[in-house]
Amino acid sequence: MIYLDNAATTRMRDEVLSAMLPYMQEEYGNPSAVYSLGRQARRAIDTARKQIADLIGADIDEIYFTSGGTEADNWALSASGISGGGHIITSAIEHHAVLNTCKRLESRGYKITYVPVNMNGEIDPDDIKRSVRPDTKLISIMAANNETGVIQPVKDIGRIAEEYGVLFHTDAVQAFGSIDIDVDDMHIDMLSVSAHKHYGPKGIGALYCRKGSKIRPLINGGSQERNLRAGTENTAAVVGFGEAARLAALERSKRGSINNLRLLLESELISSIEGTAVNGGARKLPGISNIYIKGVDANALIVNLDMRGIAASNGAACTSGSTEPSHVLMAMGFDERRIASSIRLSIGMYNTEEDIKICIEEIKRITNEQRKVSNLFSDKSKSVLV
Ligand code: PLP
Repeated sequence: MIYLDNAATTRMRDEVLSAMLPYMQEEYGNPSAVYSLGRQARRAIDTARKQIADLIGADIDEIYFTSGGTEADNWALSASGISGGGHIITSAIEHHAVLNTCKRLESRGYKITYVPVNMNGEIDPDDIKRSVRPDTKLISIMAANNETGVIQPVKDIGRIAEEYGVLFHTDAVQAFGSIDIDVDDMHIDMLSVSAHKHYGPKGIGALYCRKGSKIRPLINGGSQERNLRAGTENTAAVVGFGEAARLAALERSKRGSINNLRLLLESELISSIEGTAVNGGARKLPGISNIYIKGVDANALIVNLDMRGIAASNGAACTSGSTEPSHVLMAMGFDERRIASSIRLSIGMYNTEEDIKICIEEIKRITNEQRKVSNLFSDKSKSVLV
């Protein structure tokens, strides 16, 4: 199996699993308990909090654990200090965790501006600046896009937010661990992360919230997470998340080899298959590539790759079983035909050059087959018309 869908989720690292296992059996204490078994679990959570804080230049008491990136996004948008209506600026290419939360806020009377992106999938900070109004309370722009990997000018946007005294949230679920992030340098007030996108366990994430920023609980109950996120902590998952963050900080140099594999994939496909192009500009995360192959049915390509043991995805989001054209590629100005011929290949730390070469060969073969069949059909339809 060649797994090229690392933007969807990643394989958990062995070190992460090993770090987690004791907290599922021997160290099973409730972190709120006062006896030593509980205190040990609490200490493990605090260590993980520090490991995550360190990776983004935050303090430990600015990290709140959540059930994942979706909850962190929901929390940042709907329970930060922006109660009582007002204006929010976001973009057309955000993850649905942000877009659908905005929709709900809109139905409650909030005004939302969705800034556009250019053909490269990039947001222009000037568009953000022009959208600021006296009642603007929040700017939420993702650090990097999950379909194209395009990195957004977060620091420039943070500077604008600071200049106008507006809260700035960034969804860094894809960027976390793959590029350097410093919440102070980038003027970020809130930031969402998720463990499973970077070799950690699923169902655990965190919201960074700058000290002094107002935030209300999204989930009510006990006093966990400094009275802001109730519910008994998932100690094992938190520990795994911390370990994944610690390793990400240690292994920054691995990003370069993932980036090289992506560049190899893109350049080989472009040079060997006519009518191929990369969707999205050059400033990208190391591992995510969105590729257009003219005339190819992306769904059929993905099924065929799967039959050969290669896992890839199309850029489209699946909503209750029906496949809708990708809102990200649509926002970049591509038509439905191009979107239907685009796939996402996302490379991770376990991929090798051999994986990429096999994938290139398979894509070439499937593309040739598909094109042969469609030529046959177009020739037949010509002869019928003639
Ligand atoms: N934001 C982005 C950019 C994502 O790619 C994802 C996951 O696909 C999420 C948010 C949601 O994260 P989670 O799966 O942890 O809920």
